[in-house]
Amino acid sequence: MTNNLSSTGLEHVRAEIARACRDAGRNAADVELVAVSKTFPAEAIEPVIAAGQRLFGENRVQEAKNKWPALMAATPGIKLHLIGPLQSNKAKEAVALFDAIHSVDRPSLCEALSKEIQKQGRTPLLFAEINTGAEPQKAGVLPQDADAFLTACRATYGLTMSGLMCIPPADEAPGPHFALTAKIAKRNGLKLLSMGMSADFADAIALGATHVRVGSAIFGGRH
Ligand SMILES: *Cc1c(COP(=O)(O)O)cnc(C)c1O
Repeated sequence: MTNNLSSTGLEHVRAEIARACRDAGRNAADVELVAVSKTFPAEAIEPVIAAGQRLFGENRVQEAKNKWPALMAATPGIKLHLIGPLQSNKAKEAVALFDAIHSVDRPSLCEALSKEIQKQGRTPLLFAEINTGAEPQKAGVLPQDADAFLTACRATYGLTMSGLMCIPPADEAPGPHFALTAKIAKRNGLKLLSMGMSADFADAIALGATHVRVGSAIFGGRH
């Protein structure tokens, strides 16, 4: 992959986001593009930074720790979001490195995050992940458990939750999953919705996404 291809992918995604916002009657400033750089080396990320992108997503703490400190030192203003599952024993590193965590999904993780947030005085945005398709192999809170979980996040662990995240089943139309996530967020007073990937971010924007997580449409295919 060349530098040119990367920024072309970025330009295309930006234009598609703008178009989806227009179609939905939404303000483009209300939808943030999280450029998902997992598996890609610094050389593939640098041209996307050079093209002005500042918000990136990674799905593994260790990979992010290896890649991002140098990139962040070189360019001020970069924000990093953790979009993959988080083990409680990595909560310390995650709170230190990330500006948002999209995968809050169980009490033990809430407890670990709460402790680190207090200790480090950092306050990453927190999204609860909802397993809208109730897929056994997938992380996330079941839809029917979401209200109780969100209450516990606040009341038991003192966490300020900002939004919800979902990853619809690969073999289903994503719309109903986005709509369900938006509905759960609304009744729990949460404003942010992390939903939509390369294949379906326009649908997600139509249903209220505030953060779209787009990887391959920007960086190319992963191996
Ligand atoms: C990899 C990943 C993405 C990006 O997927 P693409 O299809 O490459 O856009 C989004 N969200 C999560 C949670 C991911 O793991």
